Amino acid sequence: MNLQEVLFNIADTPAVAGNEGQRAELCAEYLKKYTKNVRVSGANVIAEIGEQKPEQPKILLDAHIDQIGMVCTHITDDGFIKIGNIGGLDRRLLLGQELRIFGKRELIGVISSMPPHLKTDAKKPPEIDEIYVDTGYSSKNRAELEKIVTLGDPVAFNTKCKTLLNGRVTGSSFDNSAGIAAVLLAAELLAAENRAFTVLFSAQEEVGLRGAYAAGHRLKADAAVILDATTANDLYDGEKEIQAICRQGEGAVISIADGGTVYDNRLIDLAVKTAGEKNIKVQFKEAMTGGTDAAAYQRSAGGAKVLGISLPARYIHSANSVADKRDIEACYDLACAMASAVHEND
Ligand SMILES: [Zn+2]
Repeated sequence: MNLQEVLFNIADTPAVAGNEGQRAELCAEYLKKYTKNVRVSGANVIAEIGEQKPEQPKILLDAHIDQIGMVCTHITDDGFIKIGNIGGLDRRLLLGQELRIFGKRELIGVISSMPPHLKTDAKKPPEIDEIYVDTGYSSKNRAELEKIVTLGDPVAFNTKCKTLLNGRVTGSSFDNSAGIAAVLLAAELLAAENRAFTVLFSAQEEVGLRGAYAAGHRLKADAAVILDATTANDLYDGEKEIQAICRQGEGAVISIADGGTVYDNRLIDLAVKTAGEKNIKVQFKEAMTGGTDAAAYQRSAGGAKVLGISLPARYIHSANSVADKRDIEACYDLACAMASAVHEND
């Protein structure tokens, strides 16, 4: 499986939280290469791979399948579309962006912006209710627009993945198409070794870990390894000390704690030891920001031990994030090594 091909294919298939169906079907097709036991439940994709022995711990590899986005909430008399946010959008980076509106047919829209020389408070990011989407229609076409767009239709950034210099890539939803690609590549390697594990691509993580909560109760994992993306705030090195959180190009990010979870110390120690033995580049997340599906697995069924492995990505929750393919490789190498190490160190 080619990392860039899988990553781009998943990232360019829209999956705004609550409307993940198309990406869920695509991921299910990938997983069917390794097992017949794949199902799409709601928009959660669940696969059981290998033969689980009763005495072995049940290991779950998780990546959320959804992405942040928007939803149509109103059509104005002037023929503009009003939108609401699904998940935490970076509002500073919205104006002028091109959008895909998934109505009865797909439309392209542009987020309207007042020219800077007419704006008095240009430094302030717009509130979501101050934003209007221009589809080209006006008051004269409003009735026609209403036939295509229904309130509740999902909206995503119109960004296609592209390669940058130095092994880096750009796309709109590496949070969390990178996590999904890492799990798929790990699944390929682990299935070849005949390892037993469960894969969950969870729905609606960005709006409250909802798919993971629902599936966690049923799957009853002993250990859950969560692959997600996290903020690399590593741009302004120099004179003043900044909190980078993590750094691009420095490998897989291991979380100690975040807004929802204190991660399992024994799994963290095992991850660091295993990474050292296998020569996998890792770094710690230097902040307690954000949160992952781990919070759901810690609180579901008997409470799984959790390990968070994240991709250091720049500009997440915007139209164009940037990732380093070598960091994604480090994420799936570590996920694979941990799936083996948890069985062997149980
Ligand atoms: Zn995420």
